[in-house]
Amino acid sequence: MKIYIDGEMLDEADAKISVFDHGLLYGDGVFEGIRMYNGRVFRLEEHIDRLYDSARVIMLDIGIDKQAMTEAVLETVRANGLSEGYVRLVVTRGVGSLGLNPFQCPKASVIVIAANITLYAPEKYQNGLTVVTCSTRRPTPASLSPAVKSLNYLNNVMAKVEAIHADADEGLMLNEQGFVAECTGDNLFLIHGGRITTPPVSSGSLPGITWKVIFDIAAEKGVPIEEKQMTRYEIYTADEAFLTGTAAEVIPMVSLDRRPIGDGNPGKMTAEFIERFREIATSTGAEI
Ligand code: PMP
Repeated sequence: MKIYIDGEMLDEADAKISVFDHGLLYGDGVFEGIRMYNGRVFRLEEHIDRLYDSARVIMLDIGIDKQAMTEAVLETVRANGLSEGYVRLVVTRGVGSLGLNPFQCPKASVIVIAANITLYAPEKYQNGLTVVTCSTRRPTPASLSPAVKSLNYLNNVMAKVEAIHADADEGLMLNEQGFVAECTGDNLFLIHGGRITTPPVSSGSLPGITWKVIFDIAAEKGVPIEEKQMTRYEIYTADEAFLTGTAAEVIPMVSLDRRPIGDGNPGKMTAEFIERFREIATSTGAEI
């Protein structure tokens, strides 16, 4: 495997960063997870835009422009001979001293890892995911905005541990007020009577790139879709539910807290959205 670090294409064994990198010391940095399908990188421009937005919010000067970043991603994918797979793009604050001050780190580090990925077994796309509510909350917008895709994922990791301990496939995260935000690594959609709803980003979710694709598909199909602040009541009473994420793609959710959603099987409209998502994912994107 070839890994890109700061303009160099390195063998895995040589792809290392300093123990003084603030990405390691403080989780000071931002990242993206990006998919390749069928010789194309899916929604690359959107991922690059979100990365630069996250960096801007934390006052991180990435040091290279969006075009150079796009080339770095494509070059890394080519160097690994991949036409399908997953890219992890990481920008750390870079090497500094043992104090918090980010401005003493003269230069950010850009890392691109291109690999294969299988998040959920294929049968989960057929049978759906079980989900439990986690006690770990999404951070309040009064702290760093939860819309920033930063290297601080410990809330999500702790919520994931709760889901694993409950023998569930995923964990639902609420915000501080108890409204639904999202799952530990995916956005949530519900269907009631043919209408789609999803929590707004202001409820504490990440503005997902896959989440946006669902809005495109709904518009195409003429299905009503709306961002709506919700509690678990709306999930328990939904006809169908599904989750979206770059790694998870579009996947049915069939229960929350052991209450079946609808009849407890993946829904018909969900299946249609999964099918259309796959068509779009395998036929659009930046050519490798
Ligand atoms: N929420 C969280 C917390 C995530 O980490 C992710 C994955 N990046 C998502 C939602 C889904 O976002 P996307 O569709 O852009 O991958």
